[in-house]
Amino acid sequence: MAAPTAMHQGMQSCGVCGLLSRPSLEPGVRRCPRCDEILSFRKPNSIQRTWAFLLAAAVCYVPANVLPVLTTTTATGSESDTIMQGVVLLWSPSGWPLSIIVLVASILIPSAKIIALAYLLVSVQRNSLANNERRLRLYRTVEFIGRWSMVDVFVDTFTAALIQLQPLMSVEPGPGLFFFAAVVVLTMLAVESFDPRLIWDATSAQEVGYG
Ligand SMILES: [Zn+2]
Repeated sequence: MAAPTAMHQGMQSCGVCGLLSRPSLEPGVRRCPRCDEILSFRKPNSIQRTWAFLLAAAVCYVPANVLPVLTTTTATGSESDTIMQGVVLLWSPSGWPLSIIVLVASILIPSAKIIALAYLLVSVQRNSLANNERRLRLYRTVEFIGRWSMVDVFVDTFTAALIQLQPLMSVEPGPGLFFFAAVVVLTMLAVESFDPRLIWDATSAQEVGYG
């Protein structure tokens, strides 16, 4: 049996204060009676906005990995390293845990987030009825991971490890770091734009149709 939803009852919850209200059916902008926020059933243009941020993130992901993120100068000369070169450089009998942290935080998690969000968007656009709970869990995982700043993880770990390897004279950010920060910010915006309630819309529509 279909569970009644606020939307079927003509109720809307405020995105700011959470108050559930039954807005008037008169045409025009509907506002929250408590805090005057504009009401909508879903985040406006959720799918288009999420795709836009996600595609921008995917585009920035390429230079983030191809361009050097750090230029380090030592007594023997200066060297520019990409993220992957940093991972390789850190790999040693004592440094391998740091190497794995950088690999996971800087390469695997950002790409996994992009793939996961793309999957959620495509499944919603295809009105998928399957795996709703699993898809919601996937969204919550992506949302949770996004609260960590991966740029910090990389820069701190990499710099600290390099200082241990040899005395550094200077460390300078490379152009890759800018794109890397852009990937982090854009994926967070994409997560924020996606409305997880969309996952259930196709199921709710079918339940209403047959019930
Ligand atoms: Zn409100």
